[in-house]
Amino acid sequence: MSVQVAAPAVELKELSGPMDKAAGPPCEPVAAHPPGHGVAAAPCPLPATEREAALASSSSSSGGGGERPPLSGCPGLSAATKVPQASAMKRSDPHHPQHRHRDGGDGGGPAAEALVSPDGTVTEAPRTVKKIQFADQKQEFNKRPTKIGRRSLSRSISQSSTDSYSSAASYTDSSDDETSPRDKQQKNSKGSSDFCVKNIKQAEFGRREIEIAEQEMPALMALRKRAQGEKPLAGAKIVGCTHITAQTAVLMETLGALGAQCRWAACNIYSTLNEVAAALAESGFPVFAWKGESEDDFWWCIDRCVNVEGWQPNMILDDGGDLTHWIYKKYPNMFKKIKGIVEESVTGVHRLYQLSKAGKLCVPAMNVNDSVTKQKFDNLYCCRESILDGLKRTTDMMFGGKQVVVCGYGEVGKGCCAALKAMGSIVYVTEIDPICALQACMDGFRLVKLNEVIRQVDIVITCTGNKNVVTREHLDRMKNSCIVCNMGHSNTEIDVASLRTPELTWERVRSQVDHVIWPDGKRIVLLAEGRLLNLSCSTVPTFVLSITATTQALALIELYNAPEGRYKQDVYLLPKKMDEYVASLHLPTFDAHLTELTDEQAKYLGLNKNGPFKPNYYRY
Ligand code: NAD
Repeated sequence: MSVQVAAPAVELKELSGPMDKAAGPPCEPVAAHPPGHGVAAAPCPLPATEREAALASSSSSSGGGGERPPLSGCPGLSAATKVPQASAMKRSDPHHPQHRHRDGGDGGGPAAEALVSPDGTVTEAPRTVKKIQFADQKQEFNKRPTKIGRRSLSRSISQSSTDSYSSAASYTDSSDDETSPRDKQQKNSKGSSDFCVKNIKQAEFGRREIEIAEQEMPALMALRKRAQGEKPLAGAKIVGCTHITAQTAVLMETLGALGAQCRWAACNIYSTLNEVAAALAESGFPVFAWKGESEDDFWWCIDRCVNVEGWQPNMILDDGGDLTHWIYKKYPNMFKKIKGIVEESVTGVHRLYQLSKAGKLCVPAMNVNDSVTKQKFDNLYCCRESILDGLKRTTDMMFGGKQVVVCGYGEVGKGCCAALKAMGSIVYVTEIDPICALQACMDGFRLVKLNEVIRQVDIVITCTGNKNVVTREHLDRMKNSCIVCNMGHSNTEIDVASLRTPELTWERVRSQVDHVIWPDGKRIVLLAEGRLLNLSCSTVPTFVLSITATTQALALIELYNAPEGRYKQDVYLLPKKMDEYVASLHLPTFDAHLTELTDEQAKYLGLNKNGPFKPNYYRY
């Protein structure tokens, strides 16, 4: 693999602050990156000079109080208009949702811009700034994902996105009101009718939900505070399509506070919290979403966000790619004004890479799915908490003393194992990778083959991202009352189809809980029909969503403020510095005090005192 270190591609006039003038190498060696895991480095949107003071002051207000040393990391909001230099190592197409990048993969150094070819060769990016090519009207974005199978779950997930969540079930569903919101004439208290929600009268309930979410979304609240007087998103017209939940509301209201105008639709027909949508509409956000939309409603809502007289979006925030697809299909000319797309989901990101590969991506796009903090929180920390929640809600079981086998000791598996071990379960692990297997051993778990323990375990949990990990043969050999569930990939890990045979009886005992009964009376307890347990049967902590939402906000700020030419029609990862900034914004919650490098130490390690602190290949 030949590696050429990229030189700065763009000289930025606005550049300021020590972090922008990092002395470190402009680009990390990428030899350590697996092919397909090229890296991008989008600079932090906010300057460093004011950041430290801002961070210091906000840390006392948003967190545990008291004086704290200024956090290092990303720039302060005041710099939103001063965008650090472009760096961008293009991330090559991951091709598969499982091909997720957890080690951060940003372009490393400030000012680095390089391209990674499929064989892993890194070359300097062309310095000539290409003019944006607009999509041909006939170019299809991609086949949109069918809405068939979008499920009504306690926490719904987008069909097209297995890693984006809404966090809570709607408790004021108003399902007694059968009138379609499209047929209702509603106005908010200011007389605006530019929205379509289930019932505007639910706004007060929704406001409370939003206020609760705010407590666990410290970074967005900190961004708002820092924005006072500064509007890094002034003039931004953001059209969004995400789950409409209290956490999204906090994000939207933050974007509003930063100067953006927003119009929003739901990315999932079931996940909208009606009361939250009402609260947003009441406070003036044109929201078009309700729980239980039809297929037709779904696209109508998106269209109402996009197709507005006198208003054209210049930024897209998408989750799953449906909104992007719609604009490509119906209003391709809009891309002339659109500065960028921020995409959250695995599937949406995958589609963007496909577009990019085909040369059809019209504008720069940010892949926020693969930022380090998001990945860690989604995979490890979130699963560590939600495995217990999901099992408890569905089975009321006690974990102490139970024998559990966890298949796969990656991030998700590690989280599940840690939680169950802490509860006193006896945990076995299966692995195919000797490194992860050795880690499991070092962490005190018995490494076994599934066959060896399948007869004795009380719970089987799959976390591999693979298929047919639990086969019919395994299911046949399980003991009576064994609980079987999946925390890994979609619905492929357990061969559920093999259980749909005439000799087996299925009994739905609760929502998301089936007893599958063998002719001899043995029954296994199958959760969520083999789909993701936590997404189907538990909630995602707001703090996890806070990480994602902050990353989205920063990506929007960055793309919106980037000087023309910094980002080309390609898909970029957030730079590590931004990831560090997202993390630093969450530290005050814990009254955490970050140590600062001394000049001498920074020199010794070859680092800029303000980060980034790790090479791109670093695995956290
Ligand atoms: P990972 O690649 O870090 O871990 C998967 C592990 O499974 C690897 O170590 C791999 O060696 C092992 N494995 C593969 N096939 C196996 C087999 N047949 N038997 C035993 N082990 C096997 O991935 P991850 O980050 O842990 O994610 C795992 C899956 O969970 C992915 O599909 C991911 O999309 C999904 N995920 C779920 C959630 C959730 O909320 N439930 C959150 C994030 C990710």
